[in-house]
Amino acid sequence: MDLSKHKISVENIIRNPAPAKFYEDAIKFDPGSAVADSGALVVRSGKRTGRSPADKRVVKTSGVEKEVWWGNVNIALDEHTFSINHQRATDYLNTRERLYVIDGFAGWDPNYRLKVRIIAERPYHGLFMHNMLIRPTAEELENFGEPDFVVYNAGKFPANRFTEGMTSDASVDVNFEKGEMVILGTEYAGEMKKGIFTVMHYLMPKKDVLSMHCSANEGEKPEDVALFFGLSGTGKTTLSADKSRKLIGDDEHCWSEDGVFNIEGGCYAKTINLSEEKEPEIYNAIKFGTVLENVGYDANTRKVDYDDVSITQNTRASYPIDFISNSKIPCTAGHPKNIIFLTYDAFGVLPPVSKLSPEQAMYHFISGYTAKVAGTEMGVTEPEATFSACFGAAFLVWPPSKYAEMLAEKMRTHNAKAWLVNTGITGGAYGKGGERINLKNTRAIINAIHEGKLDDADTVQDEVFGFRIPTNCPEVPSEILQPRNSWSNADEYDAQAQKLGKLFRKNFDKYKAESSDEIINAGPKVSD
Ligand code: ATP
Ligand code: MN
Repeated sequence: MDLSKHKISVENIIRNPAPAKFYEDAIKFDPGSAVADSGALVVRSGKRTGRSPADKRVVKTSGVEKEVWWGNVNIALDEHTFSINHQRATDYLNTRERLYVIDGFAGWDPNYRLKVRIIAERPYHGLFMHNMLIRPTAEELENFGEPDFVVYNAGKFPANRFTEGMTSDASVDVNFEKGEMVILGTEYAGEMKKGIFTVMHYLMPKKDVLSMHCSANEGEKPEDVALFFGLSGTGKTTLSADKSRKLIGDDEHCWSEDGVFNIEGGCYAKTINLSEEKEPEIYNAIKFGTVLENVGYDANTRKVDYDDVSITQNTRASYPIDFISNSKIPCTAGHPKNIIFLTYDAFGVLPPVSKLSPEQAMYHFISGYTAKVAGTEMGVTEPEATFSACFGAAFLVWPPSKYAEMLAEKMRTHNAKAWLVNTGITGGAYGKGGERINLKNTRAIINAIHEGKLDDADTVQDEVFGFRIPTNCPEVPSEILQPRNSWSNADEYDAQAQKLGKLFRKNFDKYKAESSDEIINAGPKVSD
């Protein structure tokens, strides 16, 4: 295979091999790789076990200068520095004995799909992208032609800290105009999948297609489509894998005038504390062909210990979407009926489920709230709020208002309902009676939404947030539905709700200028 167009001169290029070949090469050439008793390939990502958003750069070329949302998310890089990093990556890759090329597609709708080429050194990265891209048929591979977008993964080799604009030994650089992405200094495989998502987030809105950080599934009736938005760890992957519904995808989708399509060919599930009992669909997808990143396992039995977080809390499994038994291939669906915003509220304030008006839906979409519990040295735990526009600011390319306006318009046109579901702490403050809501209860809430059982349920209005809280939900104890009642002390609840409301308002200040009064007023009401 001739890769001279990509400045690659290595002779031994292995293109789209079978997973078995990736296994053999991983075991032979990639220390730390192992085969688990389930048949999955255990791999190590090295020093970095998560994405490095501070090291991401977007090349400021004249063609995109006026379009991109420049700032902390899209940190500008000049074209010359991009060339330096590109050269550094290809120089390094050219010293390797063999390289893997994975050609595949992003986007299940043939009208919008992108031809992607990955050039990588590690078999682990090859198998990962074999799983995550849409796998071409033999014929499509034969006629693949030139790719629209090329990823150069030189993750084993560091960026040069003395190169202008580098802030660490890692650099992840996206060049929309050239259709190229360069990875230096990080071997975390998720950078590649989220890099391609970033490109789709740039290209799709140009074609009037909304790209979204959400999962999707479909019920028995084709018009019963649900989207689940949410930041990392809020339950997109977990809740979209549902035995009674067909999985469309677990992380990245587009919404065109024809409906919804998945961008990816695979899933990337968190495996921390994974159990067959609680998450059977995901558990059973871990078999030959699945990449298991940074998990611990027993050297003799080769059994994986999903509770082992000695390498990272962010242990992951990557598998082709058809490893989920009730996935829908091709991964496309009609227009969504329900839009569910998932949040992990560590404050314990937000109800397990609430109904949003269209304006509240926009307010929450733009806010993109979640929170985690941050430990301090003294063992005191304080919730820490994160606001990430469109539930995925890290991957946005255009200003958030562009995506928000498109979502509002599509929800209006297709009459989609919006819900806010707290998959985090409830029943009290964290450490003071509050605990993470049971997955069983969350699943029952989601089922009730799908089945339309909350559409006409009795509700009460939340005094601070203004949304409507159902007072009953099938299969869920009613006493947990209204947090003000489930906290042992209502005054403490009120104080906490004020605190969270103020954080929402403070965060929203930066979006006020471009938001309508209706949306601004759909936020929480707090005392000054
Ligand atoms: P990412 O964007 O990083 O892929 P995600 O939104 O897909 O994140 P999940 O992988 O679904 O997040 O992670 C949710 C985690 O929380 C899982 O490990 C799941 O087992 C756990 N969990 C515990 N309780 C709940 C609950 N009530 N609802 C959803 N998930 C829960
Ligand atoms: Mn996920």
